[in-house]
Amino acid sequence: MRTATAYATPSAKAPFEKTTIQRRDLGPRDVLIKIHFAGICHSDIHTGRNEWGEANFPFVPGHEIAGTVEEVGSEVDKYSVDDRVGVGCMVDSCRECTSCLAGQEQYCLKGMTGTYGSIGADGRPTDGGYSSHIVVDQDFVVGIPEGIDLDKAAPLLCAGITVFSPLKHWGAGPGSKVAVVGMGGLGHLAVKIAHALGAEVTVLSQSLSKQEDGAKFGADHYLATSDDATFEELAGSFDLIINTVSASLPMGKFLSLLSLDGTLVSVGAPSEPLEVPAFALIGGRKSWAGSMIGGIAETQEMLDFCAEHHITAEIELISGDDIGDQIDAAWDRVVDSDVRYRFVIDTGSFA
Ligand code: NAP
Ligand code: ZN
Repeated sequence: MRTATAYATPSAKAPFEKTTIQRRDLGPRDVLIKIHFAGICHSDIHTGRNEWGEANFPFVPGHEIAGTVEEVGSEVDKYSVDDRVGVGCMVDSCRECTSCLAGQEQYCLKGMTGTYGSIGADGRPTDGGYSSHIVVDQDFVVGIPEGIDLDKAAPLLCAGITVFSPLKHWGAGPGSKVAVVGMGGLGHLAVKIAHALGAEVTVLSQSLSKQEDGAKFGADHYLATSDDATFEELAGSFDLIINTVSASLPMGKFLSLLSLDGTLVSVGAPSEPLEVPAFALIGGRKSWAGSMIGGIAETQEMLDFCAEHHITAEIELISGDDIGDQIDAAWDRVVDSDVRYRFVIDTGSFA
């Protein structure tokens, strides 16, 4: 065992505290990563505040990890010391089921091993990226291309892949009309990636307060969902809607914005159930789908795509002496939709 410095919350409503955690000794195929930066995903908050059920405490969140390789196991052949690498939401899977064999490890039929909140290869609960170091099997490590700063790359490991995967799967590209609902961490990257794929992009946000930013990220149109006229104006418009909202929405209203055969993909994961009136789907042969992160190979493809198109996250960096207080404040601001557009923790300063 080796130790790492981390920030953990001891219970669902408690502030973050600096702590020491254990990381397993390197197995032959393991990589020891010095974590330089870790993004704050809304999923960290849903988990840490018990919104998705009882979490394991003390809880070390973080599944948007960017760092460098510090040490490698004897059989590691994909990475070398000092390589720039990333880890997202999963650190292992069964590797044998149809999903894993199809490169869709996130849908492992036996359940993928989460970067936090799972049981790891050593039989102990996994701790996430709000920490100085992590040990991960090389097959669940991706390379971060030169040309992308590590701090702005970290959010790509969850937010980026979570929107890239459905945009690609449902064919966003030239000639397609894509709406992004909610312009937070996932949403702002969805705008950038959909634009880079060549789609016509519309942001549907609660208000027009971030309209200028939306245009900078590549949105062609930006409308407020607080205005009922938006739903009249855009009825039947979109081939694809990516719903990134962390709270429950009136799904029927949003489905009315799809064109014939259009698909609304929910990636936002509110704790409350989402309700869909049957006629919202029947009229117009519409589909309502879900999507969860992406496979490892697809995550690498996304990083390479982002490097090629100069796409990174817009970040607010958390650094300095009062990291715990800053994480607490950042979580509150994310919940208040007051994030521009991803908080990233300077974990490189921990140890
Ligand atoms: P985020 O930064 O908080 O963004 C969510 C955005 O949704 C907000 O910025 C806000 O955008 C909008 N919103 C929030 N509350 C709303 C409300 N009550 N009504 C209408 N709009 C509201 O969160 P995130 O990190 O992007 O994550 C978004 C969701 O995706 C979370 O539920 C998270 O758990 C989930 N997630 C899922 C996956 C997956 O694999 N499927 C992966 C990562 C995250 P505006 O201010 O523009 O309206
Ligand atoms: Zn996430």
